Amino acid sequence: MSKYAAVIDAMKSGRIEDAESAGVKPYPRSFTVHENVRLLMVKDGHVKKIVAIGAGPLYDELSGEETDGCKLCGLTHENRLVLNRYFPYTAPRAFGTQVATIGLGDRLGIASPGHIRTVRDRNIKPILAQQSIRELNLTGRDYKQVLDAACFAVFQEGYKGGFGADGDHLKVESDIQMSLDLGFTMLTLDCSEKIDNTIEGMSVAEIEAKYGALPAEVREHYERRYLEQSFQAGEFTIRFDKLDVMKNALIYGEAIRFMIYIYDKYIRNAGREIDFEISIDETLTPTAPASHYLVANELYASGLNIYSMAPRFCGEFQKGIDYIGDIAQFEKELQVHAAIADHFGYKLSIHSGSDKFSVFPLIAKYTKGRFHLKTAGTNWLEAMRVVAATNPALYRRMHAYALEHFHEALAYYHVKADIRKVKPLDQVADADLPSYMDDDDARQLIHITYGILLQAKDGEGRSLFKDEFFRTLSEQEEAYESALRRHIGKHLDLLGK
Ligand code: ZN
Repeated sequence: MSKYAAVIDAMKSGRIEDAESAGVKPYPRSFTVHENVRLLMVKDGHVKKIVAIGAGPLYDELSGEETDGCKLCGLTHENRLVLNRYFPYTAPRAFGTQVATIGLGDRLGIASPGHIRTVRDRNIKPILAQQSIRELNLTGRDYKQVLDAACFAVFQEGYKGGFGADGDHLKVESDIQMSLDLGFTMLTLDCSEKIDNTIEGMSVAEIEAKYGALPAEVREHYERRYLEQSFQAGEFTIRFDKLDVMKNALIYGEAIRFMIYIYDKYIRNAGREIDFEISIDETLTPTAPASHYLVANELYASGLNIYSMAPRFCGEFQKGIDYIGDIAQFEKELQVHAAIADHFGYKLSIHSGSDKFSVFPLIAKYTKGRFHLKTAGTNWLEAMRVVAATNPALYRRMHAYALEHFHEALAYYHVKADIRKVKPLDQVADADLPSYMDDDDARQLIHITYGILLQAKDGEGRSLFKDEFFRTLSEQEEAYESALRRHIGKHLDLLGK
């Protein structure tokens, strides 16, 4: 008798809890009936697949191996597209500006089920697929795989609340086109390369000279619209003197032209709703509230309608650790940023938002619960916490390798971690290894070395850690889900969601 006999019987009777059989684990929430076809996701060994029984177009369109009265369908891109056609909730969607959203970028392709369980009963929507090109390069994945993993997670969990897919921090037109072609529903335009960071360090005379070299119509445009004028955003008044006008025109003029160009070329004509986010956060200097206002005002004057804007806040939003900086100053500026977003109608977006526990209540308060918060690597840290707790030997090897290669990772990420402060491995008992994930220096060490660890190979080209890492997390699936629920749940509690 096939090991799928019990699965098929359970699918016929609808008592999915009976589907468990040797080596096959069912995901009861995935059980779906469409006309005469029944589908159930299972895990066979470490491989997830969808079991299909019955007859009809859905059955025929899914590809897989037919055996003993069922079809075993792999989690392939083609099968994902079939699910999207028959079950619209498995395809990503745009959300607009009236609901809070959280970016839950899943670098590993296995965190989304836990993320879905975290958000499903809360007043916030998940952007499950969210990767930057930098992350793809470091993990060796592509956008197709990222979106496939998110869609299958939604199917696995039977989650019908809707989710988004964010082409994160894109700056190259071909990447924008590719993500839209793949069905991404959100686009985060990274304008960092168009923002002139040299202006802040210049003397007034230098600024005047540089400004004077701008075309007359550009200067006339900014002066007519802003010079010695004041604007109201909620209870805040924003004013521009001559120096402000010159500086903003020089710092942001090119970026504003780029935003309008991309919007007109790709978003306006997309033929569907796209959540368009403007990111001006990856710059050296914090975004002054007046600059935020001016950028938004220019966009809306050109007829843009944006989903969110990510300014660079004062203080530091470093990866994987709490906010660093003057919280009172942050609160003061956040109020104005939130009022500006409200004035135009978009959402304030907070990047590198994982673990910023001390400022979450302020974000909830001043955005009145209408925000977008991005997290990404924190689910990788929770995965490493599970590895530390359940496979200490593997954790030790990965940790040691991360220490050796930390300096390479600094080429991609700016962190404050001092790895000399990380407690030596030989002084930490196996049972205490997970506590590394509660230490800021160790967190950042592990946080930024994910690409190096996942791509590490031995002399024969075999993965040093990746295979065992994924096997461990597959065996510890429930532990990983509860770790994510606890950690991301803490974010949402403090954000009032
Ligand atoms: Zn960012």
